[in-house]
Amino acid sequence: MIRPTALLARLDQTTRLVSPDAAEALAKRWAELPASVRTPAQLLGRRTTGCEGTHGVFPRCNFGCRPCYHSSDANRVRVDGPHTIATVDEQMAFARAARGPGAYAQLIGGEVSLLDPDDHAAALLAMRRHGRVPMSFTHGDFDHDYLEALALDQHGRPRFTNLAFAVHIDSTMQGRRRVPHPTSERQLHDERARVAAMFDRLHRDHGITVYLAHNMTVTPANLDEVPDVIARSRGLGYRMFSFQPAAYVGNEARWAPDYRDLTDDDVWARIEAGAGARLPYRGLQFGDLRCNRVTWGAYVGQRYLPVIDDTDPRDLQARDRFFTAFPGPIGYAPLPHRAARIARAVATHPTVIPALAGWAARFIHRAGGLGAPWRRAEPTTFVLHRFMDAKATAAAWDHLEHGTPVAEPAVVEAVERLQACAYSMPHPETGQMVPACVQHGVLDPIETAQLVELLPRRPTSNGNRPPSHRVPPQ
Ligand code: SF4
Repeated sequence: MIRPTALLARLDQTTRLVSPDAAEALAKRWAELPASVRTPAQLLGRRTTGCEGTHGVFPRCNFGCRPCYHSSDANRVRVDGPHTIATVDEQMAFARAARGPGAYAQLIGGEVSLLDPDDHAAALLAMRRHGRVPMSFTHGDFDHDYLEALALDQHGRPRFTNLAFAVHIDSTMQGRRRVPHPTSERQLHDERARVAAMFDRLHRDHGITVYLAHNMTVTPANLDEVPDVIARSRGLGYRMFSFQPAAYVGNEARWAPDYRDLTDDDVWARIEAGAGARLPYRGLQFGDLRCNRVTWGAYVGQRYLPVIDDTDPRDLQARDRFFTAFPGPIGYAPLPHRAARIARAVATHPTVIPALAGWAARFIHRAGGLGAPWRRAEPTTFVLHRFMDAKATAAAWDHLEHGTPVAEPAVVEAVERLQACAYSMPHPETGQMVPACVQHGVLDPIETAQLVELLPRRPTSNGNRPPSHRVPPQ
């Protein structure tokens, strides 16, 4: 029989707002952040430890994009399922230990659909085993057969109840089967619809829900097409529209000279034009605003409504009360646990109820009242993520690793942004979570050169003899 004290302890543990390991990981992340980003709006270290991604798993890609963030010899590495699964497992185990449970993690490297569907599924399952919420990063140039083979087991039963894909489609990409050499975004609208329809069909036929994100690299050449991409793709099923201004990273042979002609404001203005609304990004902050601008919200009918209006002090107060009542993520525990945690949070911080009720009333009012088409509401997130140039990243990383002096403003900025990084790669061999800018700008070339030896596509000068162990990338 369980003693009353043990029962109470278990009840306390079950309904605790944040598990001890998650709380520890969040506190550590918060302590690592530069003071300049520890704002009331900051999500890092309070709601999340940040996003993660895999590396050194399958660098090969069958497209030729300009720019391309992969190193120039990425396509000399063969796609190898056992290597991918084992490496993903190792990296995610480390991420779980370093960053706690419940983080979003991208299965990313080269092109994920070059993996055998069974290997792809096994990698996703490995990520889930380590408490990650995986998202496959793809160019989307595959057919429904591949998607089904990934999503279903050999008996035709769903392996997953839900999947997440980030689909990169834009005119900087060369090699898509139906539009191999696009010269405008307009030529890709049918592809955006085709890819979204595949996932719709998966849901219809097998009940598997999908979170679909649309990614687009932005250059001066396609900047003015951003509004049209959003307007034409909205309603297809994409829940996130993420835009990455091109950066000088990866294969130098594929760079163009004018990337830095774009400012964040230039791109954000086009995103707002496409969304049809002002997109406030200071009410909720994800790392450093020079890296990320994010607006969470929903379309209700034709109207886009941000979750928070950062010019309304009542919304900001509701946010603060919510953060106090619900520290840490609440979305990953089983439903009964979540319900118990929410009940405990509300009982402990009752002022959150009027704050949230007021926020809900304002949100409904902005949507046009209770008569608005709520049934067709589409949660939609807009993101601008600006990767840094490899040169500044390398200098900043050198400073962080070795304490070398920094004076150049671009490097000072890079140091601050790396410290506040919201997207990092686990490196169990060095015990580090490494910012993706560092991964792509500094470590990928070294890592890929090692993979060329380990997983060569053609015989190498040493007679195709793979090394007996994986060499750490530093
Ligand atoms: S990956 Fe680079 S651009 Fe992105 S959040 Fe990290 S430091 Fe900023």
